[in-house]
Amino acid sequence: MTAGAGAATGVDGSGDGNGGGNGKGRGDRTGPGESSVYENARLQFECAADLMKLDPDIRRILSATTNEIVVNFPVRMDNGRVKIFTGYRIQHNGILGPFKGGIRYHPAVDLDEVRALATWMTWKCALADIPFGGATGGVQVDPAEYSINEIERLSRRFTVALGANIGPDYDIVAPDVNTNPQIMAWILDAYLCTVPPHERQRSRRVVTGKPVESGGSAGRAKATGQGIVRMVEMWAREHGVDPGGLAYMVQGFGNVGAHAAFLMERAGARLTAVQDVSGAIANPDGIDPEELAKHARRNGGHVRGYPGASPIDDLTFFSTAADVFIPAALENQINHRTAPLLKVKVVAEGANGPTDPAGDRILQQKGIDVLPDVACNAGGVIVSYFEWLQNKRGERWDLDEVDGRLRKRMERSYCRVRETATTYRTDWRTAAYIVALERLQTVYKERGIFP
Ligand code: GLU
Repeated sequence: MTAGAGAATGVDGSGDGNGGGNGKGRGDRTGPGESSVYENARLQFECAADLMKLDPDIRRILSATTNEIVVNFPVRMDNGRVKIFTGYRIQHNGILGPFKGGIRYHPAVDLDEVRALATWMTWKCALADIPFGGATGGVQVDPAEYSINEIERLSRRFTVALGANIGPDYDIVAPDVNTNPQIMAWILDAYLCTVPPHERQRSRRVVTGKPVESGGSAGRAKATGQGIVRMVEMWAREHGVDPGGLAYMVQGFGNVGAHAAFLMERAGARLTAVQDVSGAIANPDGIDPEELAKHARRNGGHVRGYPGASPIDDLTFFSTAADVFIPAALENQINHRTAPLLKVKVVAEGANGPTDPAGDRILQQKGIDVLPDVACNAGGVIVSYFEWLQNKRGERWDLDEVDGRLRKRMERSYCRVRETATTYRTDWRTAAYIVALERLQTVYKERGIFP
């Protein structure tokens, strides 16, 4: 079995993967004439920094990443030959606490993408008010091309290559696109082999998103999806709409997209179209997400060929009439080509960076609301924080406790962003950034710059 059909996909709800089976919707992340993801992240930051008049020194600090680790490391393939892979860990900012963020396996992983993802993690943690900084890592690899054993060796060797650049109170890793609890268990195991025996117990929290039996938290697998659905419910209530009457479409049917769909279904909403790397499908009468997940599991993680819906092309997918669009795949999916097609009322960003600046402008012109990624998909890192806390305190929280605490934090973020958008008369993305930047600015002002 290739990893793409099993271990390295998030389709069974086991990965964090803000992505589909192979972690993406269709469409390249960057096409001709499209800006880099890091450039997009920078433009979003500058827009918020201008509006809130961020202190120029703090602005300079937050414009740069703190550490950029690039490792080339060898992995023995099943055929006996050695292959060299390139891995990254970018630590954007650690003023609020240890660096925190996922590890992505994808052929498009590069310095530009990981810088952007790490920067977004800083804003996400600050906005969620959890004591973590921002980081992200990744390996440039298409896991579908490798066996599970090769992916295990790659994961372990990447961990050893990162060495002391990660640590339980220094930089804590988690799943992202195409990585999952099994891969987190391998990373943890390899890491623990590198620390002295008496430090192993307290070091387990170097990884979150672990399998529950290996110290993971109840509710972590569905956390990102759950946070998204909570924000959609808040949005619906505010607009006088019954969440049970919503029609929605999802891009990417990995851990995030699938769990969001399961929970939307439970709220009574109707899934009308889904797109992943294999193609797009639609059924105006509704697609059963559980049945679709079963189909995807049998089908290499892909939605194509699901008998309960008709195949549609990508343009038709984006033109589907629905109330809510949940992009849960890769960056830059809502752009100058696709944004004009959208007929939804709100975009709930499950992926990181799914909307580029041109897409954002078009959504604004069309009056489509955006629940921005740094707020909307924070459920994953919030429950990662709960997992880290449980490990640190030697506790185990039950699902009700995790769900209740997550819900409260998502509601708090939603309200903070809404208030800030009103105060500054701005869009929700900029408002979310301002909430995060105000927190960071306060701490920098309190602590000052050494020496
Ligand atoms: N990869 C997820 C994200 O982008 C989760 C990160 C974490 O749990 O640390 O938010």
